[in-house]
Amino acid sequence: MSKIIGIDLGTTNSVSCYIEQGEPRIIINEEGARLTPSTVGFSKDGDRFVGDIAKRQLLMYPENTIHSIKRFIGRQFSEVRSDTSKVAFKIVDIGDDTIGIEVGGKTYTPQQVSAFILQKVKKSAEDFLGEPIDKAVITVPAYFSDRQRQATKDAGRIAGLDVLRIINEPTAAALAYTIRRKSAATIAVFDFGGGTFDISILDVDTDVAEVKATAGNNHLGGNDIDNRLVDWLASEFKKANGLDVSGDRMVRQRLLEAAEKAKMDLSTSLETEIHLPFLTADESGPKHLQTVLTRATFEFLVEDLLRKAIDECEKALIESKLETTEIDEVIMVGGSSRIPKIQEMVKALFVGVPLNKSFNPDEVVAVGAAVQAGMLGGTVKDVTLLDVTNFSLGIEIEGRRSAKLIPKGSTVPVVRTQMVSTVVDNQKTVKIHVLQGEEELAKDNISLGEFELTNIQPAPRGVPRIEVTFTIDTDGIVNVSARDVRTGAQQGITIHSPSGMSQQAIDDARHQLQQADEDDEIGKEAQDLRHSVEKQLFALENFLRDSKLSLKKREIFDTEQALKRGRMALVKKADAEALRELSQYLNNYQAHLKQRVDSAAGGSISVALTGPE
Ligand code: ADP
Ligand code: MG
Repeated sequence: MSKIIGIDLGTTNSVSCYIEQGEPRIIINEEGARLTPSTVGFSKDGDRFVGDIAKRQLLMYPENTIHSIKRFIGRQFSEVRSDTSKVAFKIVDIGDDTIGIEVGGKTYTPQQVSAFILQKVKKSAEDFLGEPIDKAVITVPAYFSDRQRQATKDAGRIAGLDVLRIINEPTAAALAYTIRRKSAATIAVFDFGGGTFDISILDVDTDVAEVKATAGNNHLGGNDIDNRLVDWLASEFKKANGLDVSGDRMVRQRLLEAAEKAKMDLSTSLETEIHLPFLTADESGPKHLQTVLTRATFEFLVEDLLRKAIDECEKALIESKLETTEIDEVIMVGGSSRIPKIQEMVKALFVGVPLNKSFNPDEVVAVGAAVQAGMLGGTVKDVTLLDVTNFSLGIEIEGRRSAKLIPKGSTVPVVRTQMVSTVVDNQKTVKIHVLQGEEELAKDNISLGEFELTNIQPAPRGVPRIEVTFTIDTDGIVNVSARDVRTGAQQGITIHSPSGMSQQAIDDARHQLQQADEDDEIGKEAQDLRHSVEKQLFALENFLRDSKLSLKKREIFDTEQALKRGRMALVKKADAEALRELSQYLNNYQAHLKQRVDSAAGGSISVALTGPE
């Protein structure tokens, strides 16, 4: 069986991992790094690059650099309107409330953009592990809806990855933990990343990991901290120079990079210097930014943001019905969990509970994904995962109300059935409208889809017995079916998002990506071949000049013809196939000629004396 990798497809960074003989190996990318920024950049000529190079061009071409795509995947345009103003790239409604990212004259779905990232992760894994990789486990936030999970799977498919399982990030972190700790424990997974904050409380044993509670804020992360610092820097700059730079996007980008760096510095130092020469200019000349940020000021500036994370922890604790004293360890996950102040606040809440920092906070989720991958591949001992749903699921009933079939917090995988009936006499069809959310009225919940069960036999209202079955599978994906008990007639749907891509669109996108890749390969191969043909022609030319006296007239003619043919091929931009053939020919021809000349020089004069043919 081919290797299955685990991927943490993060809002900010992506990491992938493979478990070898029980030990996690983080996959090193082409740049030699363990983290790949989840950033996709396009050059002016439409070339695409992913990761660090893209992140570095963010400053130069903010409109052409896509980041935080995870905020948009599996969502609808109307839902993300407030987020669109936070990014410099263009997000449009491409119809039906579907999100499109417009860059360089092309439009991509968030699934396609995520696929670009996954494709890079896949390639890095192939180079690192030395074999083709086409299977993966991908993690998603626990709060990800059905639609967001589906879209993540679709992104995998576009990238040429069969996504065998989608698992929740906190569960993944707990799984990573199971390979280190061998006894039962109740743990809290505190995940503070770039764009989101999550807290989960789990019971883990050597063979089972059960989620007790989860909470979080999907608009709280390191980016918010950076933005807070940018505002501070801008106001300091204004104080010093009287210039308002807050509207200048280019300046903001520079401030943002400086802010993130300063923030990271302050995780280990007590103060840091921020120096940005030539930030802007006015009539009196260039203006520089120069300031010092102390850890104390930093903490003062961002404390309310950190406080929000703690609020979520309190919610999760209440939901779990556990006292902090019943928690054995808090696992610190996510880059922002390195901030000393947040560690202090976590310690203050979970009094006496040790913080587990034995894993690199950037990598623990990917390690967990790899552990799950290992279980699926049979190389790691199975641990049963009992996750919980983060939403209630139900159907619309009489009075446009929502009846919950699977309440929030139910353990998954789960199957639930509910008997329903008709509301009028001789009703032939019932509409099953699937809803997600906690609200009483159907319209206040998210509509996941609807279908009809038809051909119900005429009967007074309330008599037909229709069994509605909800299933949430191990990926957290919802299936709903309805069956007329009397006739056995059945109808069902896998919930497909209205904003999701159709099967055809996914396949097309995959082919497009593969084609672009092959074109790239062919392009590169042709280029390499052109290069070697050029070198061969140059060598042959030299050979002709140096050995003219030893060559027969016919040979000189043939050689000149060969040179001409070669040059023509280069001028006419021959394809790889033709170039390969030419290169082979030139190789053989020169070898043959050289051999003839060498043997002539070594012996019989008769060769040199041969006259014109
Ligand atoms: P995500 O899960 O969103 O992809 P990560 O877990 O990789 O994100 O965390 C990225 C965030 O962590 C960024 O906002 C980054 O600035 C922040 N971060 C990374 N290292 C540090 C550090 N040493 N101190 C403070 N924040 C950090
Ligand atoms: Mg993360």
